[in-house]
Amino acid sequence: MLKRTSQAVLIAALLVFISTVPGCAERGGTPAVVEKNGPIKVYSYERKGFVMSEKIVRSEAEWKKHLTPEQFRIMREKGTEQAGTGKYAHNREQGIYRCAGCGLDLFRSEDKYDSGTGWPSFFAPVSPDNITTAADNSLFSRRTEVLCRRCGGHLGHVFDDGPKPTGLRYCLNSAALEFAAAVE
Ligand SMILES: [Zn+2]
Repeated sequence: MLKRTSQAVLIAALLVFISTVPGCAERGGTPAVVEKNGPIKVYSYERKGFVMSEKIVRSEAEWKKHLTPEQFRIMREKGTEQAGTGKYAHNREQGIYRCAGCGLDLFRSEDKYDSGTGWPSFFAPVSPDNITTAADNSLFSRRTEVLCRRCGGHLGHVFDDGPKPTGLRYCLNSAALEFAAAVE
C-alpha cells in the first residue's frame, strides 16, 4: 500500500516536472501551450510594437458558439480545409491576417506569397511571439503544427520549403484567419 502511494507521488512529481520543461509538450505532440495563465507579450500590427494580452481560454461549448462549424473543425479539431476552397488563398490586398478565434494579429500581407498549393502561404508570422508550434505526427508524417499563441487555435502547418529570406512556408487555413485591410 505504501509502495503504491509512493509510486503515485513519484509519477505526479514527474508530470509536474515535465510540464515545466519548455518544449516538452511540443515534442509530445500536444499544443505548445505550456505557459501558466497570465499576461503574454504579443506584437500589435497597428501599434507597431509589443503589448501585453491575456490568453483566451474557452470550453468546447463556448468555442462552438463563437466559431462556425467549419472554423471549429479546423481550429479546435485540427482539421484542414480543401485546397483552393479558402477565401484568402489568392487574396492580394494589403493588410493583416488575424486569428479567427481571438483576433490576435498573426500574418502580414507583405509576407504572403503564392505557393501554388491552394492555401494562403506566408514566409513569416507578424512576430514569432504571436504563434506557437507543435510536433504533429498524424497522417503517417512528421509535420509542424502552427497555433495561435493567445487562444491555442490550430492555424495550419509550417514547412521548410518556403522562399527567402526565411525559407519557411506557413501553410494556413483561410477559415482560421480574418483579414483586415490596411487603413491608408
Ligand atoms: Zn487566437
